[in-house]
Amino acid sequence: MNNATVGKHPCPECGGDLQWNAGKQALACPYCGTVVPLAQAADGVGDGSAAVVEQDLMQALARLQAAERTQPPPLPAEQARPGGVLGLLQSMAATPAAQRGYGAQSREVQCQSCHAISVFVAGKVADRCEFCGSPSIIDHQSLGDAITPQSLLPFKISDGQVRDGMRKWYGTRWFAPNRLKRAALTDTLKGVYLPYWTFDAQVSARWTAEAGYHYYVTVSYRDSNGNTRTRQEQRTRWEPAAGSLRHFFDDELVPGTVGVHMALLHKIGSFPTTTDLKAYSPEFVRGWTVERYQVDLRQAAQQNVAQMQAQTNALCAEQVPGDTHRNLQVQADYSARTFKHILVPVWLVSYTYGARSYQVLANGYTGEIAGERPYSAWKIFFAAVTAALAVMALLYVLGNL
Ligand SMILES: [Zn+2]
Ligand SMILES: [Zn+2]
Repeated sequence: MNNATVGKHPCPECGGDLQWNAGKQALACPYCGTVVPLAQAADGVGDGSAAVVEQDLMQALARLQAAERTQPPPLPAEQARPGGVLGLLQSMAATPAAQRGYGAQSREVQCQSCHAISVFVAGKVADRCEFCGSPSIIDHQSLGDAITPQSLLPFKISDGQVRDGMRKWYGTRWFAPNRLKRAALTDTLKGVYLPYWTFDAQVSARWTAEAGYHYYVTVSYRDSNGNTRTRQEQRTRWEPAAGSLRHFFDDELVPGTVGVHMALLHKIGSFPTTTDLKAYSPEFVRGWTVERYQVDLRQAAQQNVAQMQAQTNALCAEQVPGDTHRNLQVQADYSARTFKHILVPVWLVSYTYGARSYQVLANGYTGEIAGERPYSAWKIFFAAVTAALAVMALLYVLGNL
């Protein structure tokens, strides 16, 4: 299959565009229902982790920087417009053509309320923000410069499964308003691919520290009756220590989303990116929503260094001999740094209650659910009244015995 047809796999029956179906774990035609197993689809789709490529981080950052340096002085307003031809050319210089855009025809809209940018690949564009439900969404001028996701985890949990999960989740939430239940069980449930950066790196570190060894001394003291007694007290002997560490960081994740509430994202568990990624192809995302990353590669790379430093320090700390340590100094050198831009699947319910927007999130690969919920004042009120009536009834009964 040549490049022109990659990303365009028509239905063998009716010629319609195939889409990924989570329940069937296959490509399916939304028009006539024909199901095409991944293995039988064209070479370009889901041919496994062999096609998942790591990219050199330093080269990519240098390209971004070079593109900025060569930018000419500010242009008249019309030409400098992000969608304008010059703006487009500038931004396209930053990354090789093969690493840009989402493939097929795509349209981007940005929410004026939560600022999330949604990408719709050759599909219907939503009329409300998928992340907060706000109707104020405007076209986002795609600069054509988005770094293409190299790979993704296709949805594994179907909407039916996630509705069951959410029903159970809701059932264990006392005093949650009925509106949450309706939102969770109706069409406000959206399947969204979230942008992530993943980083690999080899670290070699040297550390020095003072290792502490505990020992005990016998100390005598007087108790409250004036008797002399003894007790054991802990002391610490400090000795200099040093060592080195080599460690490979594999697929350290940095989220690029602004649409999903970060605390929830941490609660829905991990995504098996080291084992289950598939090479990106528009079939997987057509008909679903993709969020465009807003944490860019440079910010994400900085965040990644901070994460690796913290972990490197912890790994060195484990090497220090003795019972405790102090003054740990770590000199770390990171090499062979590579990155991937990937998409991971989540199911999302967003709804407003009062003036706030709440989200319930499910891991589209493992089904793990986490959510925010308001407390229904009415339900609490009625529960309190019922409890009070029960107590009064009990007192009445007891009084008549
Ligand atoms: Zn068809
Ligand atoms: Zn929004």
